[in-house]
Amino acid sequence: MKITRIFAHRVLLPLKEGRYSWSGGKSVDVFDSTIVGVETNTGLIGYGEVCPLGPFYLPAYADGVRAGLREIGPHLIGWDPRELAKLNHRMDAALKGHAYVKSGIDIACWDILGQFTGLPVCTLLGGRFGDAVRLYRAISQEAPEVMAKKVVGYRAEGYTRFQLKVGGDPDLDIDRIRAVSAMLKPTDRLVADANTGWTQHDAVRVCRAVRDVDVYIEQPCLTYEECLAVRQKTDHPFVLDENVDGLDMLLRARADLAMDVVNLKISKLGGLTKTKQVRDLCVSMGIGMTLEDSWGGDVTTAAIAHLAHSTPEELRFTATDFNSYVTVSTAEGAPQRDNGFMKASTAPGLGIRLRKAAVGPLVVEVR
Ligand code: MG
Repeated sequence: MKITRIFAHRVLLPLKEGRYSWSGGKSVDVFDSTIVGVETNTGLIGYGEVCPLGPFYLPAYADGVRAGLREIGPHLIGWDPRELAKLNHRMDAALKGHAYVKSGIDIACWDILGQFTGLPVCTLLGGRFGDAVRLYRAISQEAPEVMAKKVVGYRAEGYTRFQLKVGGDPDLDIDRIRAVSAMLKPTDRLVADANTGWTQHDAVRVCRAVRDVDVYIEQPCLTYEECLAVRQKTDHPFVLDENVDGLDMLLRARADLAMDVVNLKISKLGGLTKTKQVRDLCVSMGIGMTLEDSWGGDVTTAAIAHLAHSTPEELRFTATDFNSYVTVSTAEGAPQRDNGFMKASTAPGLGIRLRKAAVGPLVVEVR
C-alpha cells in the first residue's frame, strides 16, 4: 500500500458558548481547525485533525499546520501508511520539530491501518479498557459566581470531572476555586488549571489559600522549574501539561517526582504513535493521565476516544469530548457524550465518515 495523496480541509469551529477564555486574558471565539486526509493506491483514505488552541497557547498555529503539510507531504508520497514507525521516522527526518504538523498525518495513517485490518484504532493501540471513558468539562474563565453557576449546569449534563480555568488574578482565582468547589459532590474531581499563568510566588500563595479544598493544581507556571518549586511546597495532587511535550520531559519530571498526573495532548506530542509511547510509559510508571488534544472537532474527539479507551481505567484520569463544545459536526460516527462518558467506536479505524459538505474546499493537496 502506498500513499498517493495528502490533502487538507480548513474548518472553522464556532463555540456553543460563544467564547473560551483561559489564563492571561487569552480567548478564542472560533477555532481554526485542519482536517488532514491521507489517500492510498488501494482507495483507502484516512483522516486526522489538528486544531491549535489559537496561536498563543503552545508553539503551534493553524496556518502552520497547512504550511507544514505542504512542506512534509511530498516526502511521504509512495510510503506505506501502515508502517507507522517508519513513517514517523521519515517525517522527523524531513522536518525538524513541528510535532503538531505531523500529528494529523499520523492519526490519518492509524485510521488507514484500522480500516485495512478491520480493527478499531482502540484495539490497535492496546485494547479496550472498561465500558466507557469518563470526560471532564473545561470551565472557561469568568467571574467566580458565573463559573460556579456553569458547573451546576455541567453536573446536570452528567459530568463529574471539572477543569477550572484559572491563571488570572490570584485573589480572584482563589475565589473561583472556592466558589466552584462549593457546588461539587465529594466524589467529583476538580482541577484548577492555571495554564502557565501564575508567577511562582502567586502559585504558592494560591495553593496555601485553598489548602482545605479537594482540588488538583495543573501547570501553575510557565517553566518546569517554577512548577517543580510549587509542587514541592504543596500537598495538592499535581498535574503537568504544557511542559511535557515529549519523552525527555516526561522522564525528567518522573525522576523529580514532579507530578501525579500528566496531560497528554495528541498534537503536542506529534500524533498517536508518539502519544502511545508516552502513554504506555506512564502506565508502567503509575502516572495518571488526562488524554486529549489542544482542541478540535469530531475527528480529534474520535482519536481521543480511541487513545483514552485503550488506557487502563485506574490511570485514565479524564479525557475530553471537544465535539460537544462546538457547533459544527464534520464527521458521522464520532463519539457522542452520554451522561459524562464517551466510547471509542467499534468500527474499523477511527470509525468516522467525513461530512464532505461540512468541511469545505481543499486548502492543501500534495500528490
Ligand atoms: Mg492543561
